[in-house]
Amino acid sequence: MKKSKINLRKLLIVTLVMAMVLILVAVVFTRDKKVPGVADVCSEQVLVSNGDTLSGLLSEQGVNGRDINNIAEILKQEAGISTLRADSDKIIFMRPTDDAPVNKIVLACGPWKQVELSCGEDGRWSAQNIDIEKDTRVVKRRGEIKDGDSFYVAGIRAGIPAGVLADVYDLLAFEMDFERDVRAGQEFSVMFEENYCDGNRVDSGKVIAVSFDALRGHVEMFRFKKSDGTSGYYDAQGNGAVKSLKRTPINNARVTSSFSSKRKHPVLGFTRAHKGVDFRAGTGTPIPSAGAGKVVKKAKDRGYGNYIKIRHNGTFETLYAHMSKFAKGVNVGTNVKQGQIIGYVGSTGLSTGPHLHYEIIKGGTHVNPMTVKFPSIDNLDSQNKKDFIKYRERLEEASKLLGSDESLFIQL
Ligand SMILES: [Zn+2]
Repeated sequence: MKKSKINLRKLLIVTLVMAMVLILVAVVFTRDKKVPGVADVCSEQVLVSNGDTLSGLLSEQGVNGRDINNIAEILKQEAGISTLRADSDKIIFMRPTDDAPVNKIVLACGPWKQVELSCGEDGRWSAQNIDIEKDTRVVKRRGEIKDGDSFYVAGIRAGIPAGVLADVYDLLAFEMDFERDVRAGQEFSVMFEENYCDGNRVDSGKVIAVSFDALRGHVEMFRFKKSDGTSGYYDAQGNGAVKSLKRTPINNARVTSSFSSKRKHPVLGFTRAHKGVDFRAGTGTPIPSAGAGKVVKKAKDRGYGNYIKIRHNGTFETLYAHMSKFAKGVNVGTNVKQGQIIGYVGSTGLSTGPHLHYEIIKGGTHVNPMTVKFPSIDNLDSQNKKDFIKYRERLEEASKLLGSDESLFIQL
């Protein structure tokens, strides 16, 4: 009792805060959470296990062959479901009385989707898709890098789910080098969504804002929905935060050799320029493309081993060397998306151990991937920029309050 009172008070505080600060943002704290059709007395719930088939499960429930075929067809047509997922999908079979045939079936596929199949009086089955309403709350977690920490370790300690951290890595990989920009004492915060159903946390959602005091400087990003309905990430001034290329294609990989104009080559023994950056990673680690572009070279070379070169636009090219193998379907002329796997880490060519050698070529000249400035993909137009600045100021106000207590949340 006591606990729920405290929660209510916190909700009240948040409601008041939101009313004052985030006027544009709708806040709803109570919702009808209807779980369809589970109140039936004669119902049996089955968790799909390995080897189960829809027809097998239906037949166990006494559903006849003709109805089984109908149900399978309806599920495919109306809900796009043709197979069941073991240890995830749940099926509830319902009948009006203990000995009556099944007349209602609820298939729960994942936490947010249900299909309800009902048998009408004429014996015909029909399906209805039910989207479970998400109760999405935005929370904030703050952390600090301690001696010897990676950002990942510090993030988990701060209570940020691993999936959210992976998204943060992907976002910050445009701005930071996680090896050289991260030091003990640096602080960071992440605002992200948590999805609740019936008061229970089910999973986490999108990253709403990130702030990181990196060596390179204070990095900030905010998710913003533009007037056309699409969303993106922007810096405090409303410039597109997602850049055309990533500094570090492989998240969390350690830099073992930096870009330099002079270096003693570990295999050749004499001094020559190192025109890229080496990232240590195990053989077979997938290599994502640093940006969208077209594969212009896929070859085997004495020095580079198996390598791929991608042209991103008129200015930038990237090169990935020493691969153990190429990804299937990636050939000269293939258009790749940012993050698409193009090959796997190896030690082919002149290499002393498995690593990715990564080069960025700007206008035909090799540049240092860690310091080169990249153009933004998506800058806001002037009206969206104005709206963004207002939204960002309100979000920052709310963020201050969220930072004072981890149990507080807002709803956007
Ligand atoms: Zn190298």
